[in-house]
Amino acid sequence: MDYIKIAKENFMNTYSQNDICIDKADGVTLYDTNGKSYIDMVAGIAVNALGYNNEKIKERVMEVLSSGYFHVSNLYYNKWAPLAAERINKVAKSKKVFFANSGAEANEAALKMARKYGSSTNRSKVIAFNHSFHGRTYGALTLTGQQKYQSGFYPVLSDIVYADYNDIESVKNLLDGSICAIFAEPIQGEGGIIPAEEGFLKELRRICDENDILLIFDCVQCGLGRSGKMFAFEHYGVTPDIMTLAKALGCGIPFSATVAFDKAKDILHPGEHASTFGGNALASALSLVLFDELENGLLEDVEKKGEYLKKGLKKIKNKYDDKCSGVRGMGLMLGLDLKIKPSDVIRRCMQKGLLVCSAGYSVLRFVPPLVISYSDIDKALLILDEVFSEL
Ligand SMILES: *Cc1c(COP(=O)(O)O)cnc(C)c1O
Repeated sequence: MDYIKIAKENFMNTYSQNDICIDKADGVTLYDTNGKSYIDMVAGIAVNALGYNNEKIKERVMEVLSSGYFHVSNLYYNKWAPLAAERINKVAKSKKVFFANSGAEANEAALKMARKYGSSTNRSKVIAFNHSFHGRTYGALTLTGQQKYQSGFYPVLSDIVYADYNDIESVKNLLDGSICAIFAEPIQGEGGIIPAEEGFLKELRRICDENDILLIFDCVQCGLGRSGKMFAFEHYGVTPDIMTLAKALGCGIPFSATVAFDKAKDILHPGEHASTFGGNALASALSLVLFDELENGLLEDVEKKGEYLKKGLKKIKNKYDDKCSGVRGMGLMLGLDLKIKPSDVIRRCMQKGLLVCSAGYSVLRFVPPLVISYSDIDKALLILDEVFSEL
């Protein structure tokens, strides 16, 4: 069966997909339908934190399956979503959770909460950042401060304004008494793996406190252990009023959460927001597996493995500094900034059995499963070295 041909004939033309079709997966290795293997430094775009063919995930799926249902709607309760919400609130020291299915949806809910919060004082403006990424639905797309994503789809939402990331003056310049929220990624992901600078998030927190503005952190990519801490903002000693989670949350099943801390815990009331699939049993049950693993030693591992990978990338950067300009990021969310086109490197890596993806215009992104071994990191670095030596 030529799945790729069928896809090309039947999919809308929205992706530049690589011509490999995944057949099987195990650990951090993917196998295509020709039997070729790949070390996976993409992890379904920072989703598959526990890798593939994970026994605990398989057991949990069977456990949920044995109850005979995945979904009952939010007209009733199921046995798993309450536990998932309780777990998130315990881990994040947050107060309330709303479940949906994707990062964009989690951000839409946060944006609606921001507008609702501001409505009593007639404040509707939201500050977002240039080079951010928050998703593709209209609200999330408007929050995304990158022309290339919005171009062709105007008009986007009104009253969303953009400051420069890591430039607190540019934020202060936008304060005009009509701001209800500031939306930021603690580490910008799609924009090019750009961590917040020391002090920047603290200043945002101070500005929000002084002006009764909600601070909203999009932790869809950098949350859930990816940065080496459970949530990337913990590196900075700052807590938001709302955070959004998705990507790794459902262990590969669509799942997202809009998480409210004290100030934002009572903004929404019955009827004001909803999601048919939000908090379905399967996704909720799988999120508990992720938290079990993260709290059982995986999180400490991420910090160490991240340092190891970062050191390896820095070596490559120094060896090929005509082609590389820097290494950025935290934990297992790392970027190698290139002076050449990422697509050439990505294609050659793929041919040699390594999957990597890009971020921004010039960055090679490394977001492997958090369970990756040191020896697989070594293998990946060896392939990368080989590719650069041939370019
Ligand atoms: C991937 C991503 C999103 C969008 O998530 P979807 O599930 O694709 O809607 C939002 N914010 C950040 C930071 C992301 O990395």
